[in-house]
Amino acid sequence: MAPSALSNGYMKVVSTVRKGLCNGRCRSVEFRKEQLRQLKKMYTDHKEDFIQALSKDLRKISLLILVQMHLSILGVSDMPHLIGNSIDLAFLIPFDKSIIYNEPYGLVLVLGAWNYPMQLSMLPVHGAIAAGNAVIVKPSEVSPATADLMAKLLPQYIDKDCYQIVLGGVKETTELLQNRFDYIFYTGSPGVGKIVRDAANQYLTPCTLELGGKSPCYIDDSVDLDMAVRRIMWGKMVNLGQTCIAPDYLICSKRMQGKFIDKSKQILKEWYGENPKESESLSRIVAERHVDRLASLLESGTIAHGGKYDKESRWMEPTILIDVPLDSKVMKEEIFGPILPIINFENYVDAMEFINKREKPLALYLFTSDKELQNSFLTNVSAGGVCINDTIFHAGSPNLPFGGVGNSGMGSYHGKYSFETFTHKKSVLSRSYNGLIEKAMKNRFPPYTPGKQRFL
Ligand code: NAD
Repeated sequence: MAPSALSNGYMKVVSTVRKGLCNGRCRSVEFRKEQLRQLKKMYTDHKEDFIQALSKDLRKISLLILVQMHLSILGVSDMPHLIGNSIDLAFLIPFDKSIIYNEPYGLVLVLGAWNYPMQLSMLPVHGAIAAGNAVIVKPSEVSPATADLMAKLLPQYIDKDCYQIVLGGVKETTELLQNRFDYIFYTGSPGVGKIVRDAANQYLTPCTLELGGKSPCYIDDSVDLDMAVRRIMWGKMVNLGQTCIAPDYLICSKRMQGKFIDKSKQILKEWYGENPKESESLSRIVAERHVDRLASLLESGTIAHGGKYDKESRWMEPTILIDVPLDSKVMKEEIFGPILPIINFENYVDAMEFINKREKPLALYLFTSDKELQNSFLTNVSAGGVCINDTIFHAGSPNLPFGGVGNSGMGSYHGKYSFETFTHKKSVLSRSYNGLIEKAMKNRFPPYTPGKQRFL
């Protein structure tokens, strides 16, 4: 078959299954259980067929085939656990000890980003050390003062044989990635995340990718406006918008838009004064080229508030954009700066559809007291994490794993989840030299005489 014909064939299959996924049936718990029961039934109904097929393919001798079938049918496989009627397996392996042994991966490479340079380099290091790994950490070259300080201090405080810090940019990171690591933990942009993953693939090294993207913020007409605007604007303006989970754009009704802008103007003035450029409470953009990049995004809509910037002092005023076409530049790339575009949908179903047509976000923000709306978003929209009626705070909870999904990343960390991330769960079955077990299980040993099958 010609490759194109083959890929077209597969395209059809993929689109069929994706449609099935989209109609949501496979989300129902009862549906899932039913499918598993059906599989179990299939094994029972076609036991003989399977035995013959296995025998033909692999020349399995009859007893082993039977064992295999029994394992599937009688529930030694994981199906009863999945359906919910788990049975105790101890009757098959008496006196055995099952142990999950927490094993460190080995040598971990941590690559940090610049926007929270200490935290993004050191939090993964804490987890890797706690789990028993050796670590090489490379902070971002874009925040050199913090990187230099870390390079100076870390060797004074932690073991130099097990933990090393290296400095450098793209060239050095590229060179570093040619080495073999046992785990790579990367924080940064999705584009570089792909480069890191490619490098990891060379040795099949597992990795966590903490990436970014556009995090939507939905606000309905039912909120406490003053509180909601303060929480949204704080999340947007902290570090002048250079936060991976900053609300990237706002979705609301036309009616809410006017109220939101009026309230924002009042609050921004209260926080940063008449001349926000002089405010001590606003950070700076990390580099001049990013000021240029952000300035070009202002052309995507009408400036409803702010819009001033100064390349030399790497500053941009908190800015709100309206009349933003959905396919404009500001709605395509991650903003990573103090610009908040507002787009309008009159109902939340359309808003969910819009979000779902794009890459899966790192964070999703919902400002609403409507439980049905909250549940609908939670059920139908995939995101790395969700914060309801506030911004950023979900990333601060040690009880919650922090990480992305799809284009916003893979894997997670924070609190005990950092330990989990850097730990391989090694399964250990420990068996004694108990003569009774040996006698009970003697039928497993050859020769597989017909008489032995009676015991199965
Ligand atoms: P970046 O991808 O440019 O750089 C991150 C790291 O990758 C740095 O250590 C850098 O030296 C290295 N690097 C850069 N280019 C490379 C290349 N070609 N080959 C090998 N290594 C390379 O990211 P950034 O600009 O530092 O950070 C901004 C991005 O990171 C945004 O997308 C933001 O959303 C995301 N981010 C995510 C999180 C998170 O926790 N998920 C946190 C902060 C930032």
